[in-house]
Amino acid sequence: VKEEGKGGYRFFAEDLNISSAHRVRLEAKMRKALQHDSFVLYYQPKQDLKKGKICGMEALIRWPTDEGMVLPGEFIPLAEDTGMINPLGRWILFTALSDTVKASQAIGYPLQVAVNLSMRQFQRPGLSELVAEAIAFSGIEPSQVELEITESMVMDKVDEAIVTMQGLRDLGVQLAIDDFGTGYSSMAYLRNFPVNTLKIDQNFVQDLSTQESNTSIIDAVIGLGCGLGMQVVAEGVETKIQWDYLAKAGCHLGQGYYISHPLALDAFIEWVKTSD
Ligand code: C2E
Ligand code: CA
Ligand code: CA
Ligand code: CA
Repeated sequence: VKEEGKGGYRFFAEDLNISSAHRVRLEAKMRKALQHDSFVLYYQPKQDLKKGKICGMEALIRWPTDEGMVLPGEFIPLAEDTGMINPLGRWILFTALSDTVKASQAIGYPLQVAVNLSMRQFQRPGLSELVAEAIAFSGIEPSQVELEITESMVMDKVDEAIVTMQGLRDLGVQLAIDDFGTGYSSMAYLRNFPVNTLKIDQNFVQDLSTQESNTSIIDAVIGLGCGLGMQVVAEGVETKIQWDYLAKAGCHLGQGYYISHPLALDAFIEWVKTSD
């Protein structure tokens, strides 16, 4: 490595320049997109596995561009890094809650909307004020709102996180732990979190590929959630085998391509109307 000397260093520096130039460009594009209202939220239905009813949906951000639809994995991490997630997250909250009021009116019963929060949003002072503002602006019932946080967001600073979570619960909104089982939250803590819902990570759902699959992890997570009085949601349900198993195992809600892909608001409303 030493022998590469200056050459190696220069190469690395150029690489850095390319990536930081790309970052700067992408950030500028995002800022513009937000100003021009170019982002959109898609909604993926969540189905009650016992009754078959569609009871809500998760809001998932999309960025339509000339080069096609850009998925959140490509810009949410950068938005987190740069702080853009704050104005963007505000837009997401206001839009998701207003869209849910519209969708609920269109289909004739109240839907519950799950909105993803990022670490930076969760740790920023004033989050519950922001959520309260979005609730007031949209006119939604607080109980229709669920905020999804991850184990790592909670475990980073546990005591502060519990205060933040309690502040949100005091507004009357629901809290879900997303991607459950992939982080490192301990069961001892879980009991102390004011959380309503466990969302089983799709990796565990994917393990249910055949009728002979090992189901011990998924069974344990469902048992844990139910035992703690939580609602259990499975995400990434792609097949009938998975759907049937989860329903039989007592998982409350399912979400995934087997039920529906995420849809634009109008398509989502039409889909719920025709599927119920
Ligand atoms: P997530 O919250 O775990 O969202 C679930 C992801 O799984 C979504 O990807 C969804 O489209 C995808 N998915 C749904 N059903 C299936 C299925 O049956 N099979 C498979 N393989 N995948 C399925 P998406 O929309 O690309 O979002 C990726 C991640 O980006 C999300 O993961 C979330 O962490 C983040 N994200 C999305 N929207 C937002 C947002 O509005 N705010 C924030 N902070 N993060 C967001
Ligand atoms: Ca999520
Ligand atoms: Ca998830
Ligand atoms: Ca995930």
